[in-house]
Amino acid sequence: MDSDSSNQQLHLNHHEQLNTNWFIERSVLWPGQAQSLQIEQVLFSEKSDFQDILVFKSKTYGTVLVLDGVIQVTERDEFAYQEMIVHLPMFSHHCPERVLVIGGGDGGVIREVLKHDCVREIVLCEIDSMVVDVCKTYLPQLAAGLEDPRVKIEYRDGAEYLRQHPQSFDVIITDSSDPVGPADVLFQRPFYESLYTALKPEGICCCQAESIWLHMDLIRPLLDTCRKIFATVSYAYTMIPTYPGGQIGFAICSKSAREDIRKPLRKPDTTLLQTLKYYCPEIHQAAFVLPLFAKRELEDYS
Ligand code: SAM
Repeated sequence: MDSDSSNQQLHLNHHEQLNTNWFIERSVLWPGQAQSLQIEQVLFSEKSDFQDILVFKSKTYGTVLVLDGVIQVTERDEFAYQEMIVHLPMFSHHCPERVLVIGGGDGGVIREVLKHDCVREIVLCEIDSMVVDVCKTYLPQLAAGLEDPRVKIEYRDGAEYLRQHPQSFDVIITDSSDPVGPADVLFQRPFYESLYTALKPEGICCCQAESIWLHMDLIRPLLDTCRKIFATVSYAYTMIPTYPGGQIGFAICSKSAREDIRKPLRKPDTTLLQTLKYYCPEIHQAAFVLPLFAKRELEDYS
């Protein structure tokens, strides 16, 4: 099956999803279930060189970004994801000055990284410039940080960019869509090997690592692969109502051996804490505590 028709097979063509005033999210990655959001107004709907891009105003979750039929961010709950995928690795590093964000074209991750005063430069490596342009227009509260002088945007494939920048970053965050379409390469072993090479000696990376309710068959081999490459690997998660299963996790990998990867080395000061709605030092540690069914699958369960 060629990639285009397989994409059609993989995701219900989103024009069909718009035939009522409800957006219905279906995917082979979560068979037998679908999330629906009531639409107030479709704001943007075009195909870029890489994916279908849809933005709509929803009745109860604010503005919503959808790529290839899959919800990426909603105004109402995006903070739960952006804060955790950023502050878990950032507060686990003693002084992150150079940060790389792969994917992340909506700007939410960049917004959170910019809150760390120690950061001197952030590279955003986003494959699709149309995502950035659309989010600047329709999701300015996420994309505002993209104009910051510390941010440099590269419109390229993240896997390719990594290979050309060894020993370059203190923290790398992979804020990717799911392993179907352009992000598939970001879930393969060579990508994690390139992540290791692109990190400085004390470097830490944090990758979007799907849901323990739906993707255990993806997460377990992903963590096993990372454990063959990195000194320390752990899985943490956040709660977010508009991602399938209401939960999504992160593979957090340290280049150097870290007994304490689950404890923050730094903590937010009062000013930073006031900007947060999910992350705090206590939930940093709690996020690594898995329910038994996941602990048995993903950790050496004693
Ligand atoms: N928070 C969302 C999630 O967890 O699914 C991800 C949001 S962000 C919009 C995902 C971004 O990854 C998209 O803008 C997409 O274009 C980008 N992307 C996908 N594959 C990529 C690749 N190989 N290199 C760089 N960016 C990529």
